[in-house]
Amino acid sequence: MEKINIGISSCLLGEKVRYDGGHKWDHYITDTLGQYFDWVPVCPEVEYGLPVPRESMHLVGTPDTPRLVTVHTGIDHTEGMLKWAEKKLKNLEKEDLNGFIFKSRSPSSGIGGITVYTPSGMPGRKGAGIFGGAFIRLFPLIPVIDDGRLHDPKLRENFIERVFVYKRWKEFLEIGSSIKDLIHFHTRHKLLILSHSPKYLSDLGRLVATVKKDNFEEILSEYIRLLTESLQLSATVKKNTNVLLHITGYFKKQLSADDKQELIEVIENYHKGYIPLIVPIFLIKHYVRKFDEHYLKSQYYLNPHPLELMLRNHV
Ligand code: SF4
Repeated sequence: MEKINIGISSCLLGEKVRYDGGHKWDHYITDTLGQYFDWVPVCPEVEYGLPVPRESMHLVGTPDTPRLVTVHTGIDHTEGMLKWAEKKLKNLEKEDLNGFIFKSRSPSSGIGGITVYTPSGMPGRKGAGIFGGAFIRLFPLIPVIDDGRLHDPKLRENFIERVFVYKRWKEFLEIGSSIKDLIHFHTRHKLLILSHSPKYLSDLGRLVATVKKDNFEEILSEYIRLLTESLQLSATVKKNTNVLLHITGYFKKQLSADDKQELIEVIENYHKGYIPLIVPIFLIKHYVRKFDEHYLKSQYYLNPHPLELMLRNHV
């Protein structure tokens, strides 16, 4: 498989660029995800021109317009950092990014949950770092996560699933992008969308039904906007159970009463939290192959990302 370009905060790769001269090497990122992703490293503070080591910084002001200020000497780097970020983001547009993993709790790289101090030095509301915030404003469709959330199995799975969907979307825009291709793209993602939101699935279905030559471009932008929103909703156990039960309907005629009962029991055990999602998925994939079920064979829900990442193995 061709590797996928993902932006990353440089210190997570082990680069010694932190204010204290250290790094935040994350071995899961380099050793496991690195098998599938090519990294595009970014260290805003060093690339903007600050030395290593350097004085630490924090955010001051309001979460909407925070200022990046050194903690002890009070030097304000906001204007310089924003100027650098504008240029850097333009260059990143050429990097074919399909996602970005940011360092959490950084006033430069963080994408949320960073304390913004009041001018009197009291901890105030939380916001995004200067570069992280600018990135998500400019590229709202690109999947992002920080290293803290990446270690939550559900959030990790969601992020990686979105990376692969986004990559497929860009490929669709590059190679096909006819009305027929859009319908095909939507059809193959139906069960995946259903696992996040039945409501979005019907909204997207209605949208695709209205596509014509003269509104194609508008429908495309609306489609990816809604698809992105839908995938940001978590695929809960309850929603996955509904999808799995829906899938059993495709085998009504082929399965014996015993096999049907076994499949339902496996789904129930997943629903009760006794077994991970991968177990019913494996059984279903076995039947899909056995009965050559064309519609299900085409569904990304059954193969959303490489199996080796073991993303559906948690209970
Ligand atoms: S958190 Fe961001 S700015 Fe800080 S060292 Fe890591 S990459 Fe550089």
